[in-house]
Amino acid sequence: MATGVGIDPARIAQLTEREETHLNAETSGSARMYERSRKVMPGGVPSSYQVRNPHPIFLERGSGSKVWDVDGSEYRDFHNGFGSMVQGHAHPAIVRAVTERMPLGTHFAAVTEDSVVVAEELVQRWGLPKWRFTNSGSESTMDAIRLARAHTGRELVVKMEGSYHGHHDTVMVSIGIDIDDDAVGPADRPNSVPYGGGIPACTVAQTIPVPFNNADALDARLAELSGQVACVIMEPGMMNIGVVLPQDGYLAAVREITQKHNVLLIFDEVKTGITIAAGGAVERFGVTPDIVTLAKALAGGLPSGAIGGSEEVMASIEDGTVYQVGTYNGNPLSMAAARASFQEVMTPEAYVHLEHLNDRLHDGLGAIIEKHGFPAHVIGLGAKGCIVFSPEPVLNYRDWAHKTNGPLNELAWLYNMNRGVFMTPGREEEWTLSVQHDDADIDRFIDVFAELAADLTS
Ligand code: PMP
Repeated sequence: MATGVGIDPARIAQLTEREETHLNAETSGSARMYERSRKVMPGGVPSSYQVRNPHPIFLERGSGSKVWDVDGSEYRDFHNGFGSMVQGHAHPAIVRAVTERMPLGTHFAAVTEDSVVVAEELVQRWGLPKWRFTNSGSESTMDAIRLARAHTGRELVVKMEGSYHGHHDTVMVSIGIDIDDDAVGPADRPNSVPYGGGIPACTVAQTIPVPFNNADALDARLAELSGQVACVIMEPGMMNIGVVLPQDGYLAAVREITQKHNVLLIFDEVKTGITIAAGGAVERFGVTPDIVTLAKALAGGLPSGAIGGSEEVMASIEDGTVYQVGTYNGNPLSMAAARASFQEVMTPEAYVHLEHLNDRLHDGLGAIIEKHGFPAHVIGLGAKGCIVFSPEPVLNYRDWAHKTNGPLNELAWLYNMNRGVFMTPGREEEWTLSVQHDDADIDRFIDVFAELAADLTS
């Protein structure tokens, strides 16, 4: 894979070693905890996406825009729980809602009023008439795909190459792949490749990847598989390879093509929902799919998810054809948090504030890139964004894998961590701002990048 252009790889390696040594020395409390955790959890972590060598960073608490690790170090949080904490940590409205709910009972597996209020908010924000709840993004995409299969009576699923939709078998296909491996096939007609072990070959064969931002390739694949495809599932803006936005007209073309082939369109808004506009990508990009999936920021850090759909599609749940179920669906604590989030936190003013922060970040980082002729550009909308470590635009997964500079991304993460910015690890992740972030938080992020750019270009 290419490592990008313009920056001396030896200089990146030298600075990476320096920064890594510093971070490891400053996080000795985490190292000690890891000695315990590795004995009882594979990799010492609850989820493989939290693995880090030589040890993960253990956090103790969060408040507002900040988090503190077990060594007592303070960070401004741009990770925000992989995009779940757009409300910021321990937001007073959410703390109050959950605290009031707690003594009234935390779980019944029976419907409570808060779930109705939350569903009403979702109807109003997304313009889709019927909603159900889940407990995670994976459950939302799993249920959405089952619904599409039942509704159409077909089994194949088309997804965007490189797009993450959770950890159930159907969508653990053609993500994180090595594009230099012959097994991945041609760019405009990629092969289906499993993501890790334990995924049955018959399931892999039922999930067909296509390149993002390429309406013709989608049209051709759906024509070839005519009458066999249940749905196209996609993030309307890809947020698991940094941020890759849809080109003008692309989403409208996808909507038209899916309708032409009688295929349902699922927008996976687990990341974009709540964070990029009150009505997520549907509002922001003005294209309405048949089904929307939500999770992450829905309940301000409590586990929860949702699927919304047209009357026609959701009728399969209503008439009992599809069992959309789950003991914890609509859990009272999660619903109390989601209600408070919608009614008191994620208000129209909150989105104005997020846009302001995003603009400030975009402009500040852009000025540094220009000043140093740094081989990067900035993408952001609402609470989400990233520095793309490539001077050229990135349109899809293969573009991203070819053009972006992985080692530079890793070094940027280390610079952030060593200078009080808690940032998402991994080249494929992006930042999430919260409504509790302020200009000082943004300026810290900009200052750290200025130091990195100066150190690499001087
Ligand atoms: N869809 C998208 C777009 C995601 O980004 C993620 C998680 N990163 C998921 C689904 C799965 O969500 P969860 O981890 O809550 O199962």
